[in-house]
Amino acid sequence: MRILITGGAGFLGSHLCERLLGDGHEVLCADNFFTGRKSNIRHLMNNPDFELLRHDVTEPLSVEVDQIYNLACPASPVHYQHDPIHTMKTSVLGAMNMLGLAKRLGAQIFQASTSEVYGDPEVHPQPESYWGKVNPVGIRSCYDEGKRCAETLFFDYHRQHDISIKVARIFNTYGPRMNPDDGRVVSNFIVQALQGQDITVYGEGQQTRSFCYVDDLIDGFVCLMNSGSDVTGPVNLGNPGEFTVRELAEHVIDLTGSPSKLVFKPLPEDDPRQRKPNISKAKSLLNWQPEIKLDEGLKRTIAYYEKLLTAA
Ligand code: NAD
Ligand code: UDP
Ligand code: UDP
Repeated sequence: MRILITGGAGFLGSHLCERLLGDGHEVLCADNFFTGRKSNIRHLMNNPDFELLRHDVTEPLSVEVDQIYNLACPASPVHYQHDPIHTMKTSVLGAMNMLGLAKRLGAQIFQASTSEVYGDPEVHPQPESYWGKVNPVGIRSCYDEGKRCAETLFFDYHRQHDISIKVARIFNTYGPRMNPDDGRVVSNFIVQALQGQDITVYGEGQQTRSFCYVDDLIDGFVCLMNSGSDVTGPVNLGNPGEFTVRELAEHVIDLTGSPSKLVFKPLPEDDPRQRKPNISKAKSLLNWQPEIKLDEGLKRTIAYYEKLLTAA
């Protein structure tokens, strides 16, 4: 198949490009390089089945493909809050353009949605049936509401134009190729630990997250995209292992043997207090569940950053 991946030069996108090429497909990667990097996909550039297109999804795109994975959107709070209007445009206009493309081609389309649609959840763990508690006017809203609106567009195109859609709600995922200055918690803590800098815990570090290793998540993407035609999602994809941010910091210090100390910084506005996916739907519909435990995934990620920081 010929497959379009928007945001293909980013963290998740580059792993997906690699996976789909390995499965024997042709991959067209479209990215505006806002948070993505050429170094993430440089090793794919000589593959004749790989093509790179500099493109912003807020603009229309005319290509011929069989499947579309729509991943374009900055995912780290630091980056999505940098130009919140463009973040909203990326989610909403990007979804509309990719759905228009899917409609013209009769192509199947996957949306990288997020656990942020649940906001600061009152239901724990979060099942897909929970509608969420999201602030519509806060500093995280450009991302949360943008992704919620994109989900609405996906389901309306499905109902109105019979487009085949696959909507994944992704929970915090980590692994090699996260931008070292991305600002997300796993990359921050590992880079700080390896450089012997203070580990910046926001608030008291009692908020929880559930961390999924990238290889597990990418398997989930491919399972969902190739699931039966009756499966539209939304489907939660993530690892239900739940840790406080402070526990994460302590794991990173243990695994790196770093002398770094924890320092406590102000908690950002609207920072969700807890996050844990209910993955019953993914298990029953896709026969998917994550296999890689936090310590194993952290070891692999630490090895990546050790190499990266030594080379720099
Ligand atoms: P990332 O920032 O590494 O990748 C996003 C990619 O999209 C980058 O390559 C960036 O340059 C590109 N991009 C941004 N705006 C664009 C635009 N307007 N046009 C074209 N390209 C654009 O982040 P990631 O972690 O790889 O996230 C990928 C997708 O998965 C995002 O949609 C994100 O919201 C979603 N997601 C990720 C996580 C996670 O934990 N990693 C969790 C939930 C959802
Ligand atoms: N679109 C695109 N590529 C295509 C077909 C459509 O980028 O191959 C864009 C188109 O420019 C429009 C959006 O997708 O802005 C939605 O298309 P649709 O046909 O649903 O709506 P309409 O064009 O009727 O507004
Ligand atoms: N966080 C932290 N220190 C950091 C970066 C993040 O304590 O250096 C916290 C952040 O406040 C949040 C959690 O870690 O509670 C996860 O943050 P991230 O930005 O990775 O993802 P999100 O908040 O979008 O889940």
